[in-house]
Amino acid sequence: MAIWQCSSCGTIKESRCKPKKCPQCNSENTMIKKEGVTTKEEACTSKRTCKKRKS
Ligand SMILES: [Zn+2]
Repeated sequence: MAIWQCSSCGTIKESRCKPKKCPQCNSENTMIKKEGVTTKEEACTSKRTCKKRKS
């Protein structure tokens, strides 16, 4: 899951795909992906990497 934030009103939405429009202000193409946010999938991937390193 990725975190998306509306550049217009700042609403944060969690979605796998990029939202077409903001659920709060209904502005189109304002949802921008927030970088540096750890999602569940990313955490799972890093755990696998740790196990590989140990073995
Ligand atoms: Zn908005």
